[in-house]
Amino acid sequence: MKALVKKELGYGGLEIQDKEEPQVGRDQVKIEVVYAGICGSDIHTYEGHYKVKVPVTLGHEFSGKVVEVGEGVNEFKVGDRVTSETTFYICGECEYCQSGDFNLCNYRKGLGTQQDGGFAKYLIARKDSVHHLPEKVDYQSASMTEPLACTYHAVAKTVINDGDVVVVMGPGPIGLFTAQVAKSHGAQVLIAGLTSDRVRLEKARELGIDYAVNTQEQDIKELVNRLTDGYGADVVFECSGASPAAKQGLDLLRKKGQYGQVGIFPQSEVPFDLEKIIQKEIRVVGSRSQKPADWEPSLELMNNGSVNAKAMVTHEFDITQWEEAYQAIKNGEAIKVLLTPVE
Ligand SMILES: [Zn+2]
Ligand SMILES: [Zn+2]
Repeated sequence: MKALVKKELGYGGLEIQDKEEPQVGRDQVKIEVVYAGICGSDIHTYEGHYKVKVPVTLGHEFSGKVVEVGEGVNEFKVGDRVTSETTFYICGECEYCQSGDFNLCNYRKGLGTQQDGGFAKYLIARKDSVHHLPEKVDYQSASMTEPLACTYHAVAKTVINDGDVVVVMGPGPIGLFTAQVAKSHGAQVLIAGLTSDRVRLEKARELGIDYAVNTQEQDIKELVNRLTDGYGADVVFECSGASPAAKQGLDLLRKKGQYGQVGIFPQSEVPFDLEKIIQKEIRVVGSRSQKPADWEPSLELMNNGSVNAKAMVTHEFDITQWEEAYQAIKNGEAIKVLLTPVE
């Protein structure tokens, strides 16, 4: 089968290879991929800023159907529509594994980073990671369950009350999901971007986000103050991984506000105004990836219509068209790009 493989670390090193079809083992499920989404982290991996175990088939956001189950699998049968958590291996013994925080296990191996993932015709997942698709969740939407679960994870780390004003910095797929999840909690949501995010800000409006603000054209602070009687935003989620956005996010928060860092910065150290955190008694929380408990609620948010994932898909390519997919993302015309396997 054909697979899109990251061959070596550093810039590029991505190629279509002929690989053996993977064999299903005990407690494992073989999935035929229908759609696999390109994540921001795949772009970082392609450009060489993000380390994976090479060689590896990329693709950690996917949906598909079960084509074979291993010994000990009674929960799934051939033909089932599924998606899978990225967790492929965990130690099972550390305190994080014990509490279901698999995203924090030091020994975790993930599909599409440490273990062959979804940019191929087939992949193998552990049965405990696999989820059935609810009736109203189609394959395209289901392939985005992983990024949605990452944002569900972030939002769950904060307290949002009905009518709270929430600001999301960065209108990429993660920002657009975060905004929708925050809205499902009854918040009034502003999403902020730049002129180069024009397509994404328009999408935010289409998705029903209350305010989509181009911060190069509109004074977002004035708007937040107007909506909050001058207090400031209750919660800010930084989803762009750009340090000016992080700085602005702190500035927009009210006293005792909550700040969630979801975006990944290209550099590990960023200037961050700790003085504001002290003076405004801001609570800062980081959010890394997702854990098992985030998955069923995420699928349900799509099933009940609170989150529209499908509307975020702007482009579809097959895995041999990586270069075009990459260009569409880099030049800002794409929001979510899905890949399909080839024979
Ligand atoms: Zn991802
Ligand atoms: Zn562990």
